[in-house]
Amino acid sequence: MTPTEVAEEFLPFARPDITEDEVEAVTTALRSGWITTGPSAAAFEREFADFLGPDLHAVAVNSATAGLHLALEALGIGPGDEVLVPTWTFTATAEVVRYLGATPVLVDVEPGSLNLDFEAAARAVTPRTRAIIPVHFSGLPVSRTTLADFAAAHDLRVVEDAAHAFPVYSESRLVGDSASDAVIFSFYSTKTITTGEGGMLVTSRPELAKRARTMRLHGISRDVFDRYTSTKPSWHYEVVAPGFKYNLTDLAAAMGRVQLRRAREMASARKSIADRYNYGLAGLPLTLPQGPVEANGHAWHVYSIRLGSDAPISRDGFIEALVERGVGTSVHFIPLHLHPYWRDTYHLAPEHFPVATEAFGRVVSLPIFSSMTDHDVQRVIAATREVLLGTAGAQ
Ligand SMILES: *Cc1c(COP(=O)(O)O)cnc(C)c1O
Repeated sequence: MTPTEVAEEFLPFARPDITEDEVEAVTTALRSGWITTGPSAAAFEREFADFLGPDLHAVAVNSATAGLHLALEALGIGPGDEVLVPTWTFTATAEVVRYLGATPVLVDVEPGSLNLDFEAAARAVTPRTRAIIPVHFSGLPVSRTTLADFAAAHDLRVVEDAAHAFPVYSESRLVGDSASDAVIFSFYSTKTITTGEGGMLVTSRPELAKRARTMRLHGISRDVFDRYTSTKPSWHYEVVAPGFKYNLTDLAAAMGRVQLRRAREMASARKSIADRYNYGLAGLPLTLPQGPVEANGHAWHVYSIRLGSDAPISRDGFIEALVERGVGTSVHFIPLHLHPYWRDTYHLAPEHFPVATEAFGRVVSLPIFSSMTDHDVQRVIAATREVLLGTAGAQ
């Protein structure tokens, strides 16, 4: 073996981008004597809301799943109600509807963006439909105009699942600054900014924010922080509803504040990786991910290719071949209608969702994370070219 043939470290599909600044912020929080929800969480909420736009309320929670649940709860979604959800998503988007005893109605997606197909959604509307949860898949925003028009036409509440969409422009405004009832972001470890686990509910409706704040902490009418610092008797609080335990710790928030400051820089790193993939993978038997249209952006949380019918290898074979070359991948998503729980509970068949079913057989998510080096990107391109062309080819 020559030195250049020494096996390289396995390149994971995703890796959090953590600097000494995050380490220092969390260490400071650890030493401060206050580690649960407190001043850092409050500051993170203010800074996050200000980042997105004016007059917004941000409610920090311990996951996006919790945020989705709180938003639907605040909107009064319950038994007998139907909520439209794209089948092309993570199970969290639909499971929160079940938490409240309502019915998620799965909808097929558009072939290019793999975002919710509004025509299919219109066909799925019934007199019981109360809300819609669009997902900005991979970080490519759903059209805010189409969404608002659709909701108005069918008198629906809107909760955006923006787990992939921070930060990204949609029609020249950031996703999160919208007419929707609530927009939910995720800070899970693979997402574009992370707190390990965490999420944020953003809304322009003060009463919705108030309800979410109450319900994220046991239905107590004041935050724990207030409980210990307000001038009212420190022992006094009132339970006004059977709430949940969804608050974000100050340890996580301290990390989130640093990640938020770095969000634009990390987003531009993802964008340049996507640009290099688009260039380096052109001409192969695969479909590149759909790019943004004018006035929109792409957060590039996921870089999802689809193998062509002329590819010399199956999707599963391609994933194996990349593992052999030291490159990790993932699949976004296994559509919900193919999972046993959703399939069997709602009697769903693959042919009810032709676009998602077809896309599922061909999609692969390549590694994309902001601390990827040029060399990492080159390795992925070379491995992909080698597997699909039988040669590393010119680069
Ligand atoms: C990651 C993800 C979620 C859940 O986020 P958590 O913070 O882990 O609860 C929800 N929806 C989509 C589309 C996701 O990718």
